[in-house]
Amino acid sequence: MANLFFYKLIISMISNGIKFSPTYTKGSTRTHNIIRTQLSEQLYSEVMDLFASQACTEAKNNPKAGEYISKDQLREIFVKILPEPLNFKIQTSTKRDIQNNLGASMCTISDEQGIDGYRLILPLKDNQLYIEDIPELLHEAGHLLDYALNPQYTANLISIGNKDFYKKLGEIYEKFYYTITDYSLFRIKRVTKALLKNMSCEDKLNALKNIKLRLMTESNAYLTENHYWQELKKHRKGMKKAPPLSPLDFRFREKIRLINSMRYKIVAKERKN
Ligand SMILES: [Zn+2]
Repeated sequence: MANLFFYKLIISMISNGIKFSPTYTKGSTRTHNIIRTQLSEQLYSEVMDLFASQACTEAKNNPKAGEYISKDQLREIFVKILPEPLNFKIQTSTKRDIQNNLGASMCTISDEQGIDGYRLILPLKDNQLYIEDIPELLHEAGHLLDYALNPQYTANLISIGNKDFYKKLGEIYEKFYYTITDYSLFRIKRVTKALLKNMSCEDKLNALKNIKLRLMTESNAYLTENHYWQELKKHRKGMKKAPPLSPLDFRFREKIRLINSMRYKIVAKERKN
């Protein structure tokens, strides 16, 4: 299929620093999941070690000792655990979204090079990461690892990022997919079909793939965040941070299944013609 060919072509043009080498990117979703899980575990354990060592070495009369690490220290840890270098910046989030998730991970785009790196937006206070925000750190790091392990994310963005419908697609995704509001699948499908109307077959498939990839990485990220919230809770008496939402709250699986079925129908119809 043309779609598959174009993705391969686009992926071959994405530079190092945006994606890992084929040693890591080749293989199935399952292989990617194993690698992401290992890297997340390394990140968590390095960060926890640093918090622990600061709690021991800092002045006893500092009540905040062991509660914060700096953005620079966090960056050093990232650089250490990444199997290959990535272009990324760590920034402070300024707003709270409806899901109460303070962070975000996104591609940065330059005019000459297209996608030239990533921004990891974290709930830092005075450039410091608070210990109870570690699960959120793991959530956002999970996105970064997904993008680097599976270049389909950036290839998809390159193929539709400058299309007229891209903004509307994002709005529909935010309102009907990345939400815990209980919209019926029927309604979600209707809204999505209205967006796809009059698009080329190629655009339809890419738009649906965009939604699917976003749902997949969010589902992974919420699973990871929940796992590390549980881990942190075991080590921290009197933890104040409330548990994160679960992937089930968002019905990610059902929505992914819906997208798959819409994609299959388009492909089947195309083959008939
Ligand atoms: Zn997320």
